Amino acid sequence: MKVIGLLGGMSWESTDYYYQQLNRGVRERLGGLHSAKILLHSVDFAEIEALQENGAWEEAGKYLGQRARQLELGGADCVLICTNTMHRVYPDVQDSVGIPVLHIADGTADALERAGIEKVALLGTRYTMEQAFYRDRLTARGLEVLVPEPEERARVHKIIYHELCLGQVLDSSRDTYLRIVESLAVRGAEAVILGCTEIGLLIDEHTSPLPVFDTTLIHVQSALDWALRA
Ligand code: GLU
Repeated sequence: MKVIGLLGGMSWESTDYYYQQLNRGVRERLGGLHSAKILLHSVDFAEIEALQENGAWEEAGKYLGQRARQLELGGADCVLICTNTMHRVYPDVQDSVGIPVLHIADGTADALERAGIEKVALLGTRYTMEQAFYRDRLTARGLEVLVPEPEERARVHKIIYHELCLGQVLDSSRDTYLRIVESLAVRGAEAVILGCTEIGLLIDEHTSPLPVFDTTLIHVQSALDWALRA
């Protein structure tokens, strides 16, 4: 089994979930007392959020690249950036190490392709919904990507930073998200990408009016496939 390096803490609410799901996944696949081999580098999210807010992506890329290098030197065989948003600096992180950095959107595109989805809604931070780095990775795979209207995007973004990243899961916010998913369904979306690693805390396949592609769970499965490959 390979050692999975996690660049986490963005936020730790979802990193906690990655840790649990990776271990559960190894137990399901190997049985007995087997658990995942994990190396975690968890950052202070307040520092990262300040860089995002200031548009200091170059600095953020350098910072996360250095942390990824530390994971490699510590014995990690691959790296997961445990946030969709910080894939904004994926090229810097990958260039900093000699081990693979498994891109969260690639596994998601694979899963959508397998399900035969062509037109998909994307929920995430405003960086993920509005900037090209994420959507382009999906459209390059032939997907049509729909994002919420500007006012809806602002609400989705605010709930991530003011609630979910602080461990608050409110029914009123779940209703807000579900209404937004409904409006995306009316616009023709066949499925929704939970393109922020905390959104799965709020909505899932049982509550969503559209089939859900949870990037956290998909990223975990991609890492398990990779780490357990013979
Ligand atoms: N975890 C979130 C994501 O997947 C948001 C926090 C962040 O900005 O990194 O995008």
